[in-house]
Amino acid sequence: MKITSGTVVNFHYRLSNGEQELENSHGGDPMAYLHGHNNIIPGLEAEMSGKEVGDAFTVTIQAEQAYGLRRDDAVQRVPIKHLHNSAKLKNKLKPGMLVHINTNDGAKQATVVKAGRFNVDVDTNHPLAGIALTFEVKVEAVREATAEEVSHGHAHGVGGHHH
Ligand code: ZN
Repeated sequence: MKITSGTVVNFHYRLSNGEQELENSHGGDPMAYLHGHNNIIPGLEAEMSGKEVGDAFTVTIQAEQAYGLRRDDAVQRVPIKHLHNSAKLKNKLKPGMLVHINTNDGAKQATVVKAGRFNVDVDTNHPLAGIALTFEVKVEAVREATAEEVSHGHAHGVGGHHH
């Protein structure tokens, strides 16, 4: 069965930035996603189309088709008390640390640039924004999505969503 919109795909992957490995699914369960519903980055979803079980490929995806370009205006100063777990993080914030900011739209991930006593400068770009990503992919399984998965817009079960 070929990967088309409305199929659930299980795949293993190695992700690198061209120099070092960033993620690796081998050794755990393969990732599962519902194809055609924007559940993975656009460049990888496009490469997956038409592949079958057992297919393996390596592809480099430019930032525009991955997590987007870095935005220069994404550095903001926020009060430390607006961070998730702020009591625990007080006096422990260091440049490069990942934190979550509580916003009206829910928690938003950011990277600490500079920490002060009451405020912290954070970069709200996705950590992988601006980076060309190389994926080594092996397709492990392809099946028809259930009606429930299609209505939810994501895959269920191992490697997918659990409710
Ligand atoms: Zn669901």
